[in-house]
Amino acid sequence: MGEMELHVMAQRLQANKRAAAGRGELRTPLPVGLVHDDAGDIVIDPDAGVQAAIADVFAAFAACGSAYGVVAAFAGRRFPLRAYGGAWAGQLRWGKLTHARVLGILKNPGYAGAYVFGRYTSRRTVDPGGTVHTSITERPRAGWPVLIKDHHEGYIAWADYLANEARLAANHTAAGARPPREGTALCQGIIGCGSCGKPMMTNYHTDQRPAYECSSRRDRLTTPSCRSVAAACVDAAVAGALLDALTPGQVALALSAADEVTGRHQRVSRAAELAVERARYDADRAERAFCQVEPENRLVARSLEARWEARLAALTQAEQALQAAQDTLPPLPSRDDLEKLAADLPALWNAPTTSARDRKRLLRTLIADVTVLPEPDQAKVRIGIRWHTGATDELTAGRPVHPGTARRSPAAAIDLVRQLGPATSNDELVTRLNAAGHRTGHGRPFDIDAVQWIRHAYKVPVPDPYGPGEISVAEAARQLGCSTGVIYHWIHTGQLTARRGQGNRFCIPWNAQAEAGCRSRIAQSAHLGRAARPRTLPAPAFPAADGGEVSVTQAACRLGCSAGVIYYWIETGQLTARRGAGNRLHISWNDQIQAECRSRIGRSGHLNPAARRTKPRRRR
Ligand SMILES: [Zn+2]
Repeated sequence: MGEMELHVMAQRLQANKRAAAGRGELRTPLPVGLVHDDAGDIVIDPDAGVQAAIADVFAAFAACGSAYGVVAAFAGRRFPLRAYGGAWAGQLRWGKLTHARVLGILKNPGYAGAYVFGRYTSRRTVDPGGTVHTSITERPRAGWPVLIKDHHEGYIAWADYLANEARLAANHTAAGARPPREGTALCQGIIGCGSCGKPMMTNYHTDQRPAYECSSRRDRLTTPSCRSVAAACVDAAVAGALLDALTPGQVALALSAADEVTGRHQRVSRAAELAVERARYDADRAERAFCQVEPENRLVARSLEARWEARLAALTQAEQALQAAQDTLPPLPSRDDLEKLAADLPALWNAPTTSARDRKRLLRTLIADVTVLPEPDQAKVRIGIRWHTGATDELTAGRPVHPGTARRSPAAAIDLVRQLGPATSNDELVTRLNAAGHRTGHGRPFDIDAVQWIRHAYKVPVPDPYGPGEISVAEAARQLGCSTGVIYHWIHTGQLTARRGQGNRFCIPWNAQAEAGCRSRIAQSAHLGRAARPRTLPAPAFPAADGGEVSVTQAACRLGCSAGVIYYWIETGQLTARRGAGNRLHISWNDQIQAECRSRIGRSGHLNPAARRTKPRRRR
């Protein structure tokens, strides 16, 4: 057979294969849960355990919305796999449900009753070394060569398949999707900046108060009206709009939720029920086998009896497991209760049992996105809501006030203090403020401290406490050129008249006579009057040493001892001295006195080390 013939034959075979696939007749390996019947048609696996497992995967995905959630729902439960080819061909193997298998099931159109050929294609590349590499890539749905919907009975409808596909795409964060997360910020993932058009990030501060921040800030590309807002003010407005929109459908929503919960509870116990059924069938079969054996064939009868016993034990175990599964289910609220609850949807929305993620999912079913629109007023935030229907709404909400600002005194009270403050005493102001019904920023009635604080903070002067012709102590001291202590001394000793004014302060009646009295007192005082100060006079010349008198310092210098020694001798009468001008000591001095002093020094153990009786202790 020539090469050409072989090529033509291969081409014909391929063409036939494609034709069979186009008719939906080409047999390809089926995923678990679907089998070929005797006629070659695709049917749902008759094994109820397999059916339940596959159906539960779709139900779990509908409930939790993520493939990892399905894996978590199947924790501790086994999942079937039908082996193809090899020694195990056609047999069921039960193992763990992995994330990859969940994705495989959710993305497989066969479960939606569709026949598909050519979902994957192989691609060959040659690397520079000449090696041929074959890679398998998935085609997009539009590129599938054969797609026959409603080809066979499926587990889900085609619409559900498309919804699951969209939901998986919405979970794909690596591809830029922003699915609802666990945090409390309601608009996470769907809020954008109306100033620069970029999405807004959700930041959770250390005190767990989330904020939406324009993501341009990260790139340093913010426009002047880009801003970050506390999530609470946006969320409250958006949730309010959502609850308003939901009013007509309240009851229907709650009842469908109730049905879903009931269905979920039934699914949980159904797996255990099926296990009981399987165990009962095995036990029945073992019983029949035991009954059919001839009683004489004791060896066989004995082993069959043992097997029957084992099957019965397994049945008991399965029944106990079913009982346990039913016991752990929480009691369901009655339909009446649910209807009552549905009548109060806001309470349901705000209930602590409603998770933040559920709220976000509910929000996203109706709201497509939220935009923080540019708003020049810093105290307000303008929010645009785009509904999935295409309708848009615009809301304006107040931004939360900073805690420090919130505790500030009201502006009206401050204005009153500013107006009246310069001419009104604090007591009077307190009365006026409280009479006008003002309260401090803390909500308390005004008192002296609060009024003084406003005066301090807004620099409102106090009314002048001095009467006409009166001056303060500081002013009097300034005019006289002396210290305030002098003025206080005169007032306390009655030399200057003053009265106690507001705040216990001294008010001094001031006129030419009072000023003249003060000036004459200063002039007479040796302390205050410059002319009267002895320090300004030239110091009297000290008599020369040969005049018979020396100072303490001179004496100490001549004797080579300290001045303290000379003072001691004078105090103890060993040296004669008299008090001169400025209380200074004048010591009578001649050769004889000097000789006496020297001999005292010579005798003193303190002053002359040679005269010490005891040797100074040697330091170690
Ligand atoms: Zn921006």
